[in-house]
Amino acid sequence: MTETHHSSDIAARKPQSSPAAFVEKAPLERYVPPAKPSLVGLSRAALAEALGGIGVPPAQRKMRVQQIWHWLYVRGVQDFDAMTSVSKELRALLDQHFTLARPEVVAEQISADGTRKWLLRLPGEHAGENPHEIECVYIPEAGRGTLCLSSQVGCTLTCSFCHTGTQRLVRNLTAAEIAAQVVVARDRLGDWPGETPPPGAFVPSDGGRLVSNVVFMGMGEPLYNLDNVAAGIGVLADNEGLSLSRRRITVSTSGVVPQMARLGAEANTMLAVSLHAVRDDLRNELVPLNRKYPIRDLLDACRAYPGLSNARRVTFEYVMLKGVNDSDAEARELVRLLKGIPAKINLIPFNPWPGAPYECSPWERIERFSEIVFRAGYASPVRTPRGRDILAACGQLKSETEKLSARARLMAEAEGAGAPSSAE
Ligand code: SAH
Ligand code: SF4
Repeated sequence: MTETHHSSDIAARKPQSSPAAFVEKAPLERYVPPAKPSLVGLSRAALAEALGGIGVPPAQRKMRVQQIWHWLYVRGVQDFDAMTSVSKELRALLDQHFTLARPEVVAEQISADGTRKWLLRLPGEHAGENPHEIECVYIPEAGRGTLCLSSQVGCTLTCSFCHTGTQRLVRNLTAAEIAAQVVVARDRLGDWPGETPPPGAFVPSDGGRLVSNVVFMGMGEPLYNLDNVAAGIGVLADNEGLSLSRRRITVSTSGVVPQMARLGAEANTMLAVSLHAVRDDLRNELVPLNRKYPIRDLLDACRAYPGLSNARRVTFEYVMLKGVNDSDAEARELVRLLKGIPAKINLIPFNPWPGAPYECSPWERIERFSEIVFRAGYASPVRTPRGRDILAACGQLKSETEKLSARARLMAEAEGAGAPSSAE
């Protein structure tokens, strides 16, 4: 990953010239709601319950869950017949009642830089309802591959610079839908044992997995769906399954203060906070949730987040809005506010969308701001946006997901486990 604190090379931030690959979006008419439920994404408890429902005796359930768990999350099988350690009878019974279906990939875009974006179709909440769509983005970098997950379809909050904020909440994702995003990504990347990644995919030299980190920076406010987010993270972090270390999972919140301690206690992931302003009057405007939970309370909740240290910092996200929050004085105030909190600061170039009331700060301004933050001892990477070519074409996908280019940048910026910081 290239850090560009001191770079003035704007050209480097332009999209690469080689064309991106597109897969056309499948028409909605073809959508057939699933007849049988899928086991993919289920937690151990939900899986045990599903087995109970088809008559697997209680004494056998734990062992059966253990077997199926391995095939679901270590091997990524798509067919019950491949579960060779499971008896033929049980395989047939499973097949009769369940599927191993993933959320349907209805469009895929592959950037010249290896970033991949998938539009996923999820069943509606109620019978006869149209399916819902979310996006999931994969960003490969030297040493890691980060997947950006959605936690809700839409968002109840109304941050003024965020396109999702202009849409109403459609629904919370289930825990299984949250975990299944990782399964789909690993399918598409050939990231299961014995599979070959597609040409051009970055393959870690240590033989590690292509999806090494997860960030909840897609659609929705994760802390307003914390039960499902925490349960989904339980599936991702299970060390006999998908095995993503909690230190490589980052949950981003706009500042739902009363849920932050619970996130720490129940999910114990890395924390990212969308700060974006250093004064309450401005933050009230940008992140209206600030009226309920002002900056002071938010920072207190950050200080109280369990397990913070120099090796385990809170990431503060700060979107750069031209003439709004990008002055030198604000950079200095930012540094002052965060004093005493083990922190990383990620400056995010604003990603404009049609009708957006803001512009992105000029590159020189972002650099100057970054310089002040950097001099104060914080790594303040403004990283080369990834996947610009495909993300610029978001309009070809569902309009609700147009803002994914911002997400992609964020993912590139989110630090994962053990990532060294230069803020010492
Ligand atoms: N709801 C959570 C997580 C999803 S939003 C949150 O707000 O933190 C993930 C990040 O994208 C947040 O930091 C959000 O402020 C940022 N973001 C939203 N719209 C953006 C835009 N148009 N340009 C740049 N960043 C944006
Ligand atoms: Fe929701 Fe986050 Fe967008 Fe705010 S920035 S509207 S909390 S998704």
